[in-house]
Amino acid sequence: MKERAREARAENRVIGLVPTMGALHRGHLELIERAKRDCSPVIASIFVNPKQFGPNEDFSKYPRTFESDSEKLQQAGVDALFAPEAAEIYPAGFSAYVNVEGLSERLEGRSRPGHFRGVATVVMKFLQIVQPHFAYFGRKDAQQSKIIMQMARDLNLDTEIVVCPIVREPDGLALSSRNAYLNAEERHAATVLHRALEAARNELAAGVRDALQLQAVLHRVLGAERFARVDYAEIVDAKTFEPVTRVGKPCYVVLAVFVGKTRLIDNLYIEPKEASSDDLEIRF
Ligand code: AMP
Repeated sequence: MKERAREARAENRVIGLVPTMGALHRGHLELIERAKRDCSPVIASIFVNPKQFGPNEDFSKYPRTFESDSEKLQQAGVDALFAPEAAEIYPAGFSAYVNVEGLSERLEGRSRPGHFRGVATVVMKFLQIVQPHFAYFGRKDAQQSKIIMQMARDLNLDTEIVVCPIVREPDGLALSSRNAYLNAEERHAATVLHRALEAARNELAAGVRDALQLQAVLHRVLGAERFARVDYAEIVDAKTFEPVTRVGKPCYVVLAVFVGKTRLIDNLYIEPKEASSDDLEIRF
């Protein structure tokens, strides 16, 4: 991969990288489409990264559909697929990790200790191997995208991080490889995340700015769904992911909800009209 990327760079080509864990869906394919608009070659990676799963999480049962994934990538016009083995990425004696402090400790980081250390480390490694000009991530994982942007800035990486919009099913459910775990009843119940975000959006449109009031609306909608158990439902600052008391600048409404045994996340980016444009550093 390094050799191939080096050749492309020597030919002054613009390299795009789209990192994934496979089990590809339209969310991934839209990242690739976006990458193809900016870059040639576009390199996709598939790597189910053991370092970002906790001991009681779904690493061993995470969906692995390599054959159909590589067909989808070929059809999407990807120039190369990088799918290394775990032993190549983490050989015996591996001991250097990337830790993005602060941002990694909240929300997803609190519920999944060590998760973002695993994510930042593997993304750092892939960016070192490919040294792409652009790397594409989905806003579905808003906190992850922010952490990677912070890492790129703090560690002087030459890659520009591009964050792309959330791709959803027609009924609003955000596409996720983990949706494959849901049975028919749970699949129906899973729309509750989007319904809760829409309820918050309506309150905002009606002028509500108080975070507790918005949170109460989220809990009302989520609490009415008997298959759902809330992990967190918060309004956070879009830069720091710290909770806010009032929506006066760009924020995320962030949700993590168990539907049956499946943990799903979703979010809504909100940007009050009255916020000053200085706050706008987010590119979607
Ligand atoms: P994953 O394979 O789940 O690690 O995801 C790989 C990339 O695809 C990450 O940058 C995700 O944020 C992005 N992604 C996953 N689902 C979606 C979605 N529904 N919409 C947009 N991007 C997504």
